[in-house]
Amino acid sequence: MKKGIIKSLGIFALVAGFQAHSQEQNEEKKTMDNILLAEWSGPYAGVPAFDEMKVELVKPAMLKAMDTHLAEIDKITENPESATFENTIVPFEDSGDLLNRVFTYYGIFSSNISSPEFREVQRELSPEISEYSSKISQNTALFERIKTVYENSQENPLPAPEQRVIDLIYEEFAMEGANLNKEDKERYAKINKELSELYTKFSNNVLAEEENYIVYLTEDQLSGLPESYVKAAASTAEANGESGKYAVTNTRSSMDPFLTYSDERELREKVWRNYYSRGDNNDEFDNNDVIKKILKLRDERVELLGYDNFAQWRLQNRMAKNPENAMELMEAVWPAALARVEEEVEDMQAVADREGADITIEPWDYRYYAEKVRKEKYDLDSEEVKQYLELGNLTQALFFTAGELFNFDFKPVKEGSVPVFHEDVNVWEVTDKDSGELIGLWYLDSFARQGKRSGAWATTYRSYSELEGAKPVLASNNSNFIKPAPGESVLVSWDDAETFFHEFGHALHFLAADIKYPTLNSGVRDYTEFQSQLLERWLSTDKVINRYLKHHETGEVIPDELVAKIKKAATFNQGFATTEFLASALMDMKYHTTDPDKIEPRKFEKETLDELGMPDEIVMRHRSPHFGHVFSGEGYATGYYGYLWADVLTSDASEAFAEAPGGFYDANLAEKLVKYLFAPRNAMDPAEAYRKFRGRDAKIDALMRDRGFPVPEDAEE
Ligand SMILES: [Zn+2]
Repeated sequence: MKKGIIKSLGIFALVAGFQAHSQEQNEEKKTMDNILLAEWSGPYAGVPAFDEMKVELVKPAMLKAMDTHLAEIDKITENPESATFENTIVPFEDSGDLLNRVFTYYGIFSSNISSPEFREVQRELSPEISEYSSKISQNTALFERIKTVYENSQENPLPAPEQRVIDLIYEEFAMEGANLNKEDKERYAKINKELSELYTKFSNNVLAEEENYIVYLTEDQLSGLPESYVKAAASTAEANGESGKYAVTNTRSSMDPFLTYSDERELREKVWRNYYSRGDNNDEFDNNDVIKKILKLRDERVELLGYDNFAQWRLQNRMAKNPENAMELMEAVWPAALARVEEEVEDMQAVADREGADITIEPWDYRYYAEKVRKEKYDLDSEEVKQYLELGNLTQALFFTAGELFNFDFKPVKEGSVPVFHEDVNVWEVTDKDSGELIGLWYLDSFARQGKRSGAWATTYRSYSELEGAKPVLASNNSNFIKPAPGESVLVSWDDAETFFHEFGHALHFLAADIKYPTLNSGVRDYTEFQSQLLERWLSTDKVINRYLKHHETGEVIPDELVAKIKKAATFNQGFATTEFLASALMDMKYHTTDPDKIEPRKFEKETLDELGMPDEIVMRHRSPHFGHVFSGEGYATGYYGYLWADVLTSDASEAFAEAPGGFYDANLAEKLVKYLFAPRNAMDPAEAYRKFRGRDAKIDALMRDRGFPVPEDAEE
């Protein structure tokens, strides 16, 4: 019944505006009533009506909004005057407002509160979305106008922001096949449609596998687990109708601490196998075939454009420029990481032997014995550290950092004044500390829940641009901290605290934007992680430590010795961390530089890793069948190396702060940080922006020092 209404509304949306007989007027009323299509109202130049959204409104709203955007584009192309920046690029940049708003709701349903019902809507919409986007990227009339503006600008250059916009737009269209002939364009569009269905399938398979493999522990299987973990596991089990048991869910935030602490080796193996087999279980959710199809289609698509492989096509407008540069960096770091793994395994094996464990270190032992080595060598107890990392204090630490560097002030919004999609979401108002000028809002969705994707991420509901009225930015951070039992503090690990700062760095990047056109908000994949990675460094600055890293019960500041140990331990386990990351990043690049006809994912993964000399004790951070960065969309495909690329910049920039007269709070350098590295977003070429900040290009040396690896001699100048 419900489905029928959605369907007729959908058809209506596609033909909206053409006719009006009584049936359709009725439908029109329903569309008008759709809250997802309404202007955002209320304070702060309007905010999303998260409290009123419903799954059944998503499809009609999306169809209507896509249609509206296409009609806006038609208006541009129907203009009889010859194309200029003003009559083509400006209205193009200004279009799609309704869709952006609807897509905000779509994003919340997809990432924060997904459900089988919504996944059905997603499946239905995915071909529609792809068709819509092809209608823009393959719009010949539109591209001809863009090309005219671009070509004219090559003769008579435009002012810098306008020139950058037209360069980026033209390049994007060209990369998406705008210069293709009609036949190739049709094939191109068809490939994209198939790909988008495969991406959705890939991520839904992973999500299903996360939900389907929960390990329930009994009372006698809790040995070694921290009390906080046990409590959270008990409440998750209870929520799942398994009262009296303890749930280890098939997500990183549950798996990782379990493998670190559980004394039950067989259970560790089971949890490890569940997690690293996601999408690789030879069942209906198996992703190996999906990967094969994706790789073939990607390859065919870039071949139409004249590229040898997907990586070559993808990296042309990245900071790395080509796969060779990205590989060169990874290969410079890889041997040092492997050498370190050998040392780490030796240390762990020695602990196991001394304990009389009579085992050989296996992948499910790595975190467990690493923790023992950490305690022994660095005398660092992660649980003890956690007592000083309370979520509320950490949130205040973020605000302090933003205040010092960006001059931002954060205040909670008046209770109930800004709608949220879940009671756990909190909202703050962000203003300039001196002028009081409103910058935007910051939404924080802290806790893991059923239907929320794992990990942590940042997003915007509304980005800044002068063209669109310089409205307040609506930025959000999303984490998967385990919700504590009522009245308990949320204590997080050092790693999770760093991630919390990292994602906040993305939010600050959104909030600090000072650009003229929406396109200048776009990210350069191997560059946008840099700003957020850099922000992580403020967690261990003295000011943050002394003010915010306080014991959750006693309020005592984290002791100096403990901080010294944390800093000393920073290079600990870098063999593991660097290797598991690089294995994924290298695989990503190999997948996209190898003839896809020669790829059977399961076999290819194994053979490639063997060739690289992957240690037996470590598995890729994201194995292929659940490597969502690369296969549930295109954002990170041949882009996973970008974290390392960005890390080179991070270490190098961080040394600049460490060496500045005012250290990490040096006012001069902070000003440059905001001015060149945050505010321009993509309005400035990243390499140029970095040079303006640092006075030179980044070097790899600081990164190697940060990881405790020897600095390669040829890298020293
Ligand atoms: Zn990030």
